Amino acid sequence: MGTHRNGIGRRRFLAGSGLAAAGLLSMRGQARAGAQPPVAPGEPAARRAASVGDSHRGPCVIASGNGPNATERAFKVMSAGVDPAEAVVAGVKLVEDDPKDNSVGYGGLPNEEGVVELDASVMHGPTHKAGAVAGLRNIKNPAAVALKVLQRTDHVLLVGEGALRFARAHGFKEENLLTPESHAAWLRWREAMGADDWLNPEERDWPRPGKKTLEEFLAEEAKQSRGRDAGPIPFTWGTIHCSAVNRDGDVGSCTTTSGLSWKIPGRVGDSPIVGAGMYCENEVGAAGSTGRGESLIVNCGSFAIVQYMASGLTPTEACLATLKRIVDRTREKRLLNSKGRPNFNASVYALRKDGAYGGACIYPGGSFAVTTSDGETRVHPCAPLFEAE
Ligand code: ASP
Repeated sequence: MGTHRNGIGRRRFLAGSGLAAAGLLSMRGQARAGAQPPVAPGEPAARRAASVGDSHRGPCVIASGNGPNATERAFKVMSAGVDPAEAVVAGVKLVEDDPKDNSVGYGGLPNEEGVVELDASVMHGPTHKAGAVAGLRNIKNPAAVALKVLQRTDHVLLVGEGALRFARAHGFKEENLLTPESHAAWLRWREAMGADDWLNPEERDWPRPGKKTLEEFLAEEAKQSRGRDAGPIPFTWGTIHCSAVNRDGDVGSCTTTSGLSWKIPGRVGDSPIVGAGMYCENEVGAAGSTGRGESLIVNCGSFAIVQYMASGLTPTEACLATLKRIVDRTREKRLLNSKGRPNFNASVYALRKDGAYGGACIYPGGSFAVTTSDGETRVHPCAPLFEAE
């Protein structure tokens, strides 16, 4: 698994270990069904294909495809008069709390030492303030801690031990964030590394032929007492991003994640970096990202989207233009496929101040959730920059 750190190995590992479940596959299906032609930034408006979300106006919440519950919740909270920045934090909490989403909060996949480290950021349009935490351990809701950084400090970003102490001081409960499933997934990854003393299934002479292991017996016993099977871990793509605009045109934005699985301890992705994993300007709108964080950091992904919207591109066009920047600036051979294109995917999401919205990905596979001014929640495929390789 020499390439696991760039995210490609992670996906291969998940596919090979049976974790690539319905989530990923059905998202691919959706993307093909609704694929829209890529828009060349700068192409005359008349020749540009209209995208879903172009003509929407009014209050709206958008999230990455794993967040329909988050957009619905944030919309409800925001409609009751709560500020959009607080509403999006309330929305993503549902996903952070969900043990089945192994990309975020409780149940998120751990670092290479088996420890879950979480990153999150939140931004408030009207005050142009942001708060973020990175490498936070043992706290299930890093987005809420990021919001406290925004509201209760003069700083933007707290990391590691300092972030944990700050969370403790604000009464956040410490808990083990590994679920039995994410722990088992980490052990399988660790044992598959080879050339060390951790034995993988081929190397170990266990279980003995024809014998049931104690673990299998205990799992069966637990299943009988529950009366149902817990099932495999559904693989959900990355992180959750969520942005909102209320009826006054005020915006807020939030991204929260367990980051790249099996990462080097201390690795920080785009999610807690203002301008990379999320960004908003109250005069323009909000944006956020999921996918290979390193690429979004070096291209200031979310900042670029908001600037493209400020210069007149629609949300979908702004997302595609930003992905094109990423593609054009990906130059390391190990990150390129045989066509000279990136061998990773990224998805980005945008919401304009007037309520227009859109999402795009480098390759088909990304999707986004949106709750629109009529209160309806839908999941759409992101517009792909390229068709599938
Ligand atoms: N963007 C996240 C990170 O790099 C990971 C992801 O969205 O899959 O930490």
